Amino acid sequence: MRITEKLKLSKQLISFEVFPPKTDIAFESIEKSVRELAAFSPDFMSVTYGAGGGTSEYTVKIASMIKNKLNTTSIAHLTCASTTKEKISEMLCRFKENNIENVLALRGDIPENFNERVGDYYEYASELVKVIKSHDCFDIGAACYPEGHPESSSPEEDLEHLKYKTDCGVDFLTTQMFFDNGLFYDFLDRACQKQINVPIFAGIMPITGINQVDRIIRLSGAKIPNELETILKKYENDPDSLQKATVDYGINQINDLLKNGVRGVHIYTMNKPFVAKAVLKGISR
Ligand code: FAD
Repeated sequence: MRITEKLKLSKQLISFEVFPPKTDIAFESIEKSVRELAAFSPDFMSVTYGAGGGTSEYTVKIASMIKNKLNTTSIAHLTCASTTKEKISEMLCRFKENNIENVLALRGDIPENFNERVGDYYEYASELVKVIKSHDCFDIGAACYPEGHPESSSPEEDLEHLKYKTDCGVDFLTTQMFFDNGLFYDFLDRACQKQINVPIFAGIMPITGINQVDRIIRLSGAKIPNELETILKKYENDPDSLQKATVDYGINQINDLLKNGVRGVHIYTMNKPFVAKAVLKGISR
């Protein structure tokens, strides 16, 4: 089903993000996690696209399995910074062949060998949105950044680009992970003032280990609020208590978002069914 149809049927959606395997050997264990996650009946599941594009076929395989075998709506991510225009066309055909009706259009992070790329590429996600739109058979999602994209000179400039991207044909947006709901509410106000009127899903990542934190900050630039910082310090040598406290922190974030009428919460599950289980048990919809 298309995600815009899902949005018509339900006031608030809950979705899960999974990542595909990098190798055939890892496929079986990831397939198992995905099956377990789908059994919790999320409104949809999104499947990431490997940064360099080398694992694109696994994105198709997992998104197709979710849709065609597990009867759950799926959305395939697609990035253009390291995928040629030709390969983008191929990928869209592969999505169509596999009845995948939703695509998350992304630029992707700039690869280290960016200047050595050979071939023709789209520069920004907005260009990819236009191309997907021209196929006239997908709902299109895109990314947004409540704290501003790390490469942009200011959140205002980033919002300007987001407005343009959305107007190119985006049906809904999903945020980068954030840990301070206040920043998200402020972003919603600014987006509304800018006439960005599509539904915005809040991206929440329940932290499950201290070793994730540096990576999260490095990749997303998300601020860690004092309350979460205190939890991380208190339990830095006690992984079990840390996990319980940080997952509870994520649950409190989600309950607050749902209470405040957010259209959807997208959970970065990191392929961990126990996270989804704990979250679904803890939230009130
Ligand atoms: P864009 O919208 O193109 O923006 C990138 C930067 O360029 C921003 O700073 C923006 O302000 C600026 N910009 C945009 N248009 C212009 C313009 N016309 N002129 C000047 N500057 C401009 N990465 C993966 O590799 N695989 C994934 O599966 C994946 N999934 C993601 C899912 C979500 C929900 C999110 C939030 C991120 C995901 N990412 C993924 C990471 C994402 O690819 C990176 O954050 C990337 O750096 C930016 O992608 P974008 O689509 O937001 O880019």
